[in-house]
Amino acid sequence: MAFLSGCDLAQVYRRAKADGYALIANNFAEPNVLLGILAAYEGAKSDLLLQVSMGAAKFAGGGKPLPGLRALVRYVQALAAEVRIGVFVNLDHVTPDHVGDFIRPALAEGLCASVMIDASALPFEENVAATKRVVELARPYGALVEGELGKIKGVEDEIASDEAFYTDPDEAAEYVERTGVDLLAISVGTQHGVSTGRDLTLRTDLARAIDARLREEGMERPLVLHGASGLSAEQVRALVAAGVCKVNKDTTYQYVYARAAADFFRANRAAILPPEGTTFDPITFEPSGRDWKPDKKLFDPREVGKVVQAAIRAVAAEMIDQVGSGGKSLYA
Ligand SMILES: [Zn+2]
Repeated sequence: MAFLSGCDLAQVYRRAKADGYALIANNFAEPNVLLGILAAYEGAKSDLLLQVSMGAAKFAGGGKPLPGLRALVRYVQALAAEVRIGVFVNLDHVTPDHVGDFIRPALAEGLCASVMIDASALPFEENVAATKRVVELARPYGALVEGELGKIKGVEDEIASDEAFYTDPDEAAEYVERTGVDLLAISVGTQHGVSTGRDLTLRTDLARAIDARLREEGMERPLVLHGASGLSAEQVRALVAAGVCKVNKDTTYQYVYARAAADFFRANRAAILPPEGTTFDPITFEPSGRDWKPDKKLFDPREVGKVVQAAIRAVAAEMIDQVGSGGKSLYA
């Protein structure tokens, strides 16, 4: 199945909302995470939502976000053509100052099925105005727009917030009505970054109240949970039952990547690092001191890459189970 559009993604969310499951929105910035995730989703027959933050695009583009996004998306497109699941890309956390240089060209070039405009740091009226402009911009391309109301504590990419502000259900209804957003990111106590679910005052009741309020007004929307790394399976399931349809995961993959690589290099230290008192020239391959050679079978970056991919695949599969999207692909 090829890389798909916003109209197709809207169908996936409709089915998810009706059947009570959610999609994990999987952040990635490089191939090992992408390949691990893709393998997990293909294996589980779940549709796959990938997301790219501007920081990730900038990383992939050697400092240039738009070329980086193009490169990542083309990689995804080529692989998506080989699997029987729907594959979608969302632009994660784009601030209003990058509508012109990032969102607009990404939409025009068909690089995403949806985009998140994050104007949540602005006062309510300005958030409404900035979000509405992106909704109008995205409509002709059939792309979905996610807006955010309330503030999520922590640091995400280049956006930082010291305090959490819970989303108010009445404000949520007004915001959805006035902006026309397709998805609503709410703040119910989760945090961006490393925080464990035990330390949070998680307001599942508030998610339920927002969902109920939107339904009452005939404006039911998939709710989005940011800062979801660190939550227990029970917490995720409770939030999905309360109307959350998109659960963002970035930090979990970052840690699993680093941990798998750290364990691999620690276990294979002697095959890569010369013994104490010996140096090894990477160009001439001349050792000084003792005769020593590294082991190419272990230092080839594909070796650690395979280990990272397997670890990412395993954790991605576990999170598919938490949100219940396995076996639900509309395209399998
Ligand atoms: Zn976020």
